[in-house]
Amino acid sequence: MLLALNGGGVYIEIELVAGHVQDNGLSTGMSGNRQIERYPVAQKPSSLVHPLNKLDNSDVLLGSADKQRSESNLPVHDVAIVGGGMVGMALACSLAKLPLTNHLNVAIIDSNPALQRGQSIKKEAPPDPRVSTVTPATRALFQDVGAWKYVEEHRHAYFDKMQVWDYTGLGYTKYHARDVNKEVLGYDRCVVENKVLLKSLLSCLQDSGSQHKLYPLRLSSMHLEPASASSHHGSLAKLELSDGNSLYAKLVVGADGSKSRVKELAGISSTGWKYSQNAVICTVEHMEENRCAWQRFLPNGPIALLPVGDKFSNIVWTMDPEESLNRKSMSEVDFVKEVNRALDSGYGPRPKSQSSGGASPFSWLTAKKAVSAYDYFEIPPRITKLASERMVFPLSLKHANTYATKRVALIGDAAHTVHPLAGQGVNMGFGDAFSLSNVIAEGIAVGSNIGEVSLLRRYESDRKPANLTMMAILDGFQKAYSVDLGPLNVLRAAAFQGVQNLSPLKRHIISYASGEQRFPIFS
Ligand SMILES: Cc1cc2nc3c(=O)[nH]c(=O)nc-3n(C[C@H](O)[C@H](O)[C@H](O)COP(=O)(O)OP(=O)(O)OC[C@H]3O[C@@H](n4cnc5c(N)ncnc54)[C@H](O)[C@@H]3O)c2cc1C
Repeated sequence: MLLALNGGGVYIEIELVAGHVQDNGLSTGMSGNRQIERYPVAQKPSSLVHPLNKLDNSDVLLGSADKQRSESNLPVHDVAIVGGGMVGMALACSLAKLPLTNHLNVAIIDSNPALQRGQSIKKEAPPDPRVSTVTPATRALFQDVGAWKYVEEHRHAYFDKMQVWDYTGLGYTKYHARDVNKEVLGYDRCVVENKVLLKSLLSCLQDSGSQHKLYPLRLSSMHLEPASASSHHGSLAKLELSDGNSLYAKLVVGADGSKSRVKELAGISSTGWKYSQNAVICTVEHMEENRCAWQRFLPNGPIALLPVGDKFSNIVWTMDPEESLNRKSMSEVDFVKEVNRALDSGYGPRPKSQSSGGASPFSWLTAKKAVSAYDYFEIPPRITKLASERMVFPLSLKHANTYATKRVALIGDAAHTVHPLAGQGVNMGFGDAFSLSNVIAEGIAVGSNIGEVSLLRRYESDRKPANLTMMAILDGFQKAYSVDLGPLNVLRAAAFQGVQNLSPLKRHIISYASGEQRFPIFS
């Protein structure tokens, strides 16, 4: 380490040797085996300026030399995660856990108050309407970083079967753990409130002892080639926050959801469209405990009833935007009646159980039968009460044309937004987060600059094919079920019956939906 004079400032120069970080624990870009990093004396990299220290208002009046001096007081981070939602926090946890990345100085920028004071979750309160079905692949990733044990401290619900059918009564499909030779499907798929997932990741991060700093603010602007490019900050991105302060980072991760400001500021375009559908979500109560995930396809979209523990279930009901506003504002009694109609008594007849001797028009689909092919069609639980507010979400499909540019990577809904009909969105995002942290670790291992686009493209090539495949399947489903036409209804019913009867097909679908397998059927 040595001191150097440069223009308006005095700097510490730190020599870093590939695979070994000297003096400060901050990773850096290295070419060959050796690299010099410079930091202003006022700011040794690991002991950063406190983010909430306001800049003096007179700063705006400073001349350029003075300005450069004040610039050098700004915090510098290895990684700035914009968006501390479930996916951004999963990345922070994974970076904190991996041996090659746990020394990184990570900034998390999000004004969500739940991140500052931690959310208190009361077990006796009804479950929140925002829930996620967590796949076994996600659960394994949470276990790896040590976050699953916190989920287990809170309410969560495994389910041991799924029943999918449509309103025509022509066919139904039941998925059961026995179809994949597992004891219970419920051990694999689990429904967890989003606030529980977020709190668990936050607890995991707090217990990790890693260097992270929460900025309870929003990103307002970003410069990927800051004006001070010739100075020591040249290899960093500059982020401007909603309180007027700024910070620098080697890598900016956009985990800021479907309306990502990072994506916009990085000039990354997206492909996609709005579905002319909204989702109404809420928590409902029933008399008996629910251990099954139910989904019924109606003329305007599917309704799903997912167990969330005790006598509560979560409703995700897709419909026309106008209908959704209507259903949100109608009386609770009327809404409960509508839900019961949608789940069972309205729109069309119940499918006939094959094992009850019902003459299915598709009985020729009797090749190698799945174990659950003989399962009866079951009637979903009768809803007795609305147990939460009703929330309405517009639905869209959006895919960023690239996940990585110089110094920027996108993860989660910032990179891709999907229809919630199969509960895959945040699971895809968790896959991104853990993939990106591994790629950063690989980069550090070989001395790459973690903001280098060639490194970040490795993350993109790992995740893009998997995400695009899932998006194509979900969009195909959405389209197949948004047309209410005689012949198509028959085709769909035949598909249900085919899946219900054919054991290998069923196994493929279950393992794909579980996140265990990347390319269903075709693999
Ligand atoms: C009705 C519905 C049901 C769903 N069900 C499921 C399911 O069962 N399973 C599943 O896998 N997925 C499901 N999803 C999808 C899932 O909710 C999303 O994929 C997930 O929330 C995305 O997480 P994220 O962290 O990427 O983004 P978000 O949850 O959108 O979080 C983004 C964060 O960024 C912050 N932010 C935004 N802008 C800025 C800024 N400028 N500066 C700083 N911070 C910023 C926000 O405050 C927020 O905390 C569902 C979605 C919907 C709409």
